[in-house]
Amino acid sequence: MTTDNKNLIEVRNLKKYFPIKGGILQTTVGQVKAVDDVSFSIKKGQVMGLVGESGCGKSTTGRTMLQLLKPTAGEMYYDGVDTFKLSGNELKKYRTKMQIVFQDPYSSLNPRLPIYDIIGEAMLEHKIVANREEMMNKVFELMSKCGLFPEQAGRYPHQFSGGQRQRICIARALAVDPEFVICDEAVSALDVSIQSQIINLLKDLQDDMGLTYLFISHDLSVVKFISDSVGVMYLGEIVEIGSKEQIFEHFAHPYTEALLSAAPSFDPRKRNNSNRIILQGDLPSPANPPSGCRFHTRCPLATAKCSGEVPAKYEVEPGHFVQCHFAKERFAKRAENN
Ligand code: SF4
Repeated sequence: MTTDNKNLIEVRNLKKYFPIKGGILQTTVGQVKAVDDVSFSIKKGQVMGLVGESGCGKSTTGRTMLQLLKPTAGEMYYDGVDTFKLSGNELKKYRTKMQIVFQDPYSSLNPRLPIYDIIGEAMLEHKIVANREEMMNKVFELMSKCGLFPEQAGRYPHQFSGGQRQRICIARALAVDPEFVICDEAVSALDVSIQSQIINLLKDLQDDMGLTYLFISHDLSVVKFISDSVGVMYLGEIVEIGSKEQIFEHFAHPYTEALLSAAPSFDPRKRNNSNRIILQGDLPSPANPPSGCRFHTRCPLATAKCSGEVPAKYEVEPGHFVQCHFAKERFAKRAENN
């Protein structure tokens, strides 16, 4: 995908904490640090994948960017404008430019509305179209673009399969002519054969409409296919970020290595379980993250330094950042071995 090399999205030091209430007076006794100081940018027309185990904060990051959850701190620039500083009509205007497609196409569609209203109602609300006739024409056009038949527009969500419902969700997201779409585990609930159809649809729409995506997924093979850049999240932080090639070929963070080693391969020659790194224990609670490097309780390479000192983010090659005390050594060793 070609781009004009300009950042459409820039997230700076994003934090989303959820208060923990306790006692008779329900006072705040702690914070769940679901997203803790996350920064990244996405160039116009590109796809950034955000990966990590469930509970690492990737979905919360996406929802907070769109202010579906109130940010605790940070900045979120859309084409140079900090949308967290906007309110009222200004914010409404930017909200149409940024849309989200959720994981579950069953619960995210109103079962009592026909498809033309599900896709079209936001067009009228945001005055994208002047009247219902124009709305219907645009609904038909979007349905065709998303691989649905316009004659199905009068049907209700329960009359469609899971894959078709996700197509409806995508058409609804595109109804307000957005430039940026967050796909939050958008294909995870679908059968594998349907997943590839929806991924191809998202790719085609990106080429057609010049869309920019944040693609949130725990499925590394899907992320590898669709993304230009990738961020790896662990316990509310991005621990490694870079281009797709940098993350998949030159990874230097032990967590990225463990995730990649556990990803199933379609190529039987690469299905070698002996290389698989099994992480011990569960993801620690974000209400009480481990000291120093948050990954130290599960990292096979942890030393005494790791529990005592928060590692810096090292730029091991241009645009490739790794948050690990030994990032530089690991990267150099990998380069040597290659
Ligand atoms: Fe592992 Fe230590 Fe690096 Fe953290 S800083 S990833 S615990 S080696």
